[in-house]
Amino acid sequence: EEGVSAHETVLLASIEKLSRGRQRLRARSIMTREFDIETLIRSVLDFPRPVIMFRHITTLLKQADAFHAVVETLGEAYLDRPIDKVAAIESRGFIIGAALAYKLKVGFVPIRKQGKLPAENFGQDYQLEYGVDRLEVHRDGIQNGEQVLLVDDLIATGGTAEAALRLIGMAGGSVVGCAFVVDLPDLGGRQKLERLGYPVFALCQFPGH
Ligand code: AMP
Repeated sequence: EEGVSAHETVLLASIEKLSRGRQRLRARSIMTREFDIETLIRSVLDFPRPVIMFRHITTLLKQADAFHAVVETLGEAYLDRPIDKVAAIESRGFIIGAALAYKLKVGFVPIRKQGKLPAENFGQDYQLEYGVDRLEVHRDGIQNGEQVLLVDDLIATGGTAEAALRLIGMAGGSVVGCAFVVDLPDLGGRQKLERLGYPVFALCQFPGH
């Protein structure tokens, strides 16, 4: 352009780039901060059993910008951490965990209910309100010494997450942290994991059970 020096051209280009970066930043912070995650989660009383208040994330997942904000927020929380794998718990944990693994550009490892994984696996029983259940992970899903982030949709008593953490340990992984969309603090799961030394991050909380 006439009257604009090469130096000015470079300067203008870098200013433009900077302001584009700022706009991107602004757009991102709007997405992550302006969502009231808990208002987007459906609460269903008496499911799957009487008295249980089920907190279901499908109402959040179906909303593109909310799903995006959830994965971005979790991603930003762990972006600078040395993570090799995301391990997530069947089945709603898979939805968040797989998207987060993609965002962090790390591998994904499924932790499944008994009998679903085809290859050799480690298993861990855990206590339910009535009876026991079992989680499994492939023996070669995690390599010795890998840094693993555990992901699930919700933490209640922490029994499920604790079993998953044991499995990660059996497979040779080292746990970086545990991430959830929902925490039910009155059920004590978060406290239990933190007392065991695992850092916990959750996007929202509901009182009661
Ligand atoms: P817990 O082992 O008690 O921490 O239970 C957590 C696991 O059970 C997670 O995989 C959740 O998906 C599921 N879960 C337990 N309680 C609820 C609830 N109130 N609403 C939705 N999911 C639940």
